[in-house]
Amino acid sequence: MNATPPRAGTPRRFDVAVQGAGVVGQTLALLLARDRLRVALVGGPRGTDAPDVRAYALNSASRELLRSVRAWPEADANDQHASPITPVSAMQVWGDDGGELKFSANDQGSEALTWIVDVPALEQRLSDAVGFQGGIERLTETPAAALTVVCEGKRSQTREQLGLAFDVRPYAHKAVAARLRCERPHGGVARQWFAQGEVMALLPLGGAEGNSVALVWSVPAEQANLWLQSDPSVLAQAVQARSANTLGTLHMESPAQAWPLELSRAQRWITRNATGGVALAGDAAHAMHPLAGQGLNVGLADAAELARVLHEREYWRDLGDLKLLRRYERARAAEVGAMGWITDGLFGLFAHDDSRVQALRNWGLNSFNRSGPVKRWLARQAMGQAA
Ligand SMILES: Cc1cc2nc3c(=O)[nH]c(=O)nc-3n(C[C@H](O)[C@H](O)[C@H](O)COP(=O)(O)OP(=O)(O)OC[C@H]3O[C@@H](n4cnc5c(N)ncnc54)[C@H](O)[C@@H]3O)c2cc1C
Repeated sequence: MNATPPRAGTPRRFDVAVQGAGVVGQTLALLLARDRLRVALVGGPRGTDAPDVRAYALNSASRELLRSVRAWPEADANDQHASPITPVSAMQVWGDDGGELKFSANDQGSEALTWIVDVPALEQRLSDAVGFQGGIERLTETPAAALTVVCEGKRSQTREQLGLAFDVRPYAHKAVAARLRCERPHGGVARQWFAQGEVMALLPLGGAEGNSVALVWSVPAEQANLWLQSDPSVLAQAVQARSANTLGTLHMESPAQAWPLELSRAQRWITRNATGGVALAGDAAHAMHPLAGQGLNVGLADAAELARVLHEREYWRDLGDLKLLRRYERARAAEVGAMGWITDGLFGLFAHDDSRVQALRNWGLNSFNRSGPVKRWLARQAMGQAA
């Protein structure tokens, strides 16, 4: 979508223009409208292109945030297997030489470690919530506003037009995603394998009793392209083999889709345009490898923090005041930097084919598994809870 930049001197009908109606943009619009700000949401909901086959692992902080704006998809009480939400009761991670790490919600004294959320259901729920919120107007062009928040995803044109530098380190991998039906129930367990420099996750779908999984497999780009073109059963068999038959025979339930992967981050997240302040949020500000399922969790935390900073501003301060926006930028820098560093470090660690590094990383997994405090700390980070 090509957003027309606002003209200087245009009267402001809106307090905030949120540019980009992905999950981050819609959530932010809902948070701000709840605070009685007049919000323009630029860009329509997802079009009629193929439905997203992904499912996101969302932590408890994201769940609470989405619940607070009534955008958390609810389970269908009459049909648990059609549930768009699956609580993860345990996680199992395998290394490439006998390393193994297990977490369970019980050990954390928590209802679930994370929740696997059907992406189309989440998008629909958000779009409905936006439709019910009288304080949000959907527009196709960017209006003048005291503050414009760019939530256009990784390839944001507006960020580029504003001259905000975006450091990008592409990975030679793509993530292949698909839905598969399993012979055996998943038991609410999220499973992940690190092998041959690849990372494969099978995330449980369809509620705790379900027997479908969402695949996310980070593989060299040429391999991903081959799978997109080949017979679906070829991919199903490869997943079954890599998962050591853990869930029995697997069948494809959706076409496969693939996403290029990168570690990226904007150098500055705030600036000014002709009519006010500008801030970046979500993937427009940062993107990371999905191996830890954190990209959207971090983007939703951006939305929560920006809404908090705007809510707590001094009464005389304009919404686009750069001093105010700098509070947001500073507050987010540390978490986003750390998460990008962790995902990149893990990816790099398992990409090494040196046998000494292989022994060390598998030893590391087993040691983590035996160390109560470190394991609990890791689990709390993944769950989006403060240390
Ligand atoms: C395979 C895979 C698996 C993932 N799994 C997880 C997971 O388990 N957990 C997790 O937390 N994260 C996960 N992520 C990351 C997650 O997908 C992203 O972090 C998230 O989608 C970012 O949301 P966003 O709203 O910032 O950007 P986007 O989803 O990219 O949305 C941007 C929106 O802006 C619109 N837009 C673009 N340009 C313009 C314009 N000029 N004007 C108006 N609108 C515009 C686009 O059409 C789009 O609607 C995964 C990513 C991948 C690739």
